[in-house]
Amino acid sequence: MKDSSIQWTDHTFNPWIGCTRVSPGCQNCYAEGGYGRRFGIEWGPGKPRRRTTADYWKQALAWDRQAARKGVIPRVFCGSLCDWLDPDVPPEWRRDLLELIGRTPNLGWMLLSKRPQLWRRLVGQAAKSGGAFAARWLAGEAPHNAWAGTTVEDQRRAEGRIPRLLEIPAARRFLSCEPLLGPIAPDLGGVDLVIGGGESGKRARPLDIRWARDLRDRCRDAGVAFFMKQCGSNPVESGRPLEMKDDHGGDPDEWPEDLRVREMPGAFRTPARVKTAKGQ
Ligand code: SF4
Repeated sequence: MKDSSIQWTDHTFNPWIGCTRVSPGCQNCYAEGGYGRRFGIEWGPGKPRRRTTADYWKQALAWDRQAARKGVIPRVFCGSLCDWLDPDVPPEWRRDLLELIGRTPNLGWMLLSKRPQLWRRLVGQAAKSGGAFAARWLAGEAPHNAWAGTTVEDQRRAEGRIPRLLEIPAARRFLSCEPLLGPIAPDLGGVDLVIGGGESGKRARPLDIRWARDLRDRCRDAGVAFFMKQCGSNPVESGRPLEMKDDHGGDPDEWPEDLRVREMPGAFRTPARVKTAKGQ
């Protein structure tokens, strides 16, 4: 059933493609450099985003039917090539996305954004444009099948974004600390899952393994699930490069043994083909 190469999700869904860089985590945005360039989609404020096709959207309905038949709850990462809280998107697109989430109760939507502070305004616009799902959410009804998540690449983003994430009514919340750009000490109250990872690509900034270890320990102490996704293309430890054959540092067998942690909170199963640490 899993068809996404991203280890912590089963499927990825992009309601549209395009975005604007907002913080240091965006510096080497692979969506802009890859898909954007390939399909001639310009990133930036005021640039038109490209909505994906109606046939593509129908895939989510098919995943939902399949999940209902199998009695599982696959995770769907929404927005690997966009940000679902992008203010440059017409309100009707976000309304339609939220309606789709309402029509797929057997999926676990992972809504990741670098703009959690815009949730109220943009979901409010979606509600005004006729979205029943948006209106219920805005009224405080947390959707049972959607997680709210935000990216936290450094301490400044931890302090700025996590409090705004916590204002979003949500059954579950998660942090994506990828690319992790420095040591962080996030307040994990109200958070269910933390994903850690280093940056990929030729220009990848270093991930010091000690930052990931520290994050893992903070999660353990707070009773929060920790999922180490990858060490990235430039892992170091105490200033020394760590050699890994996998381009993204994504093979747990090449990691220091104590970092091979891929936990998920209850209610969402671990994707069947995720490679887990030996002995876990
Ligand atoms: S928010 Fe995500 S998609 Fe948008 S520019 Fe930043 S990294 Fe790229």
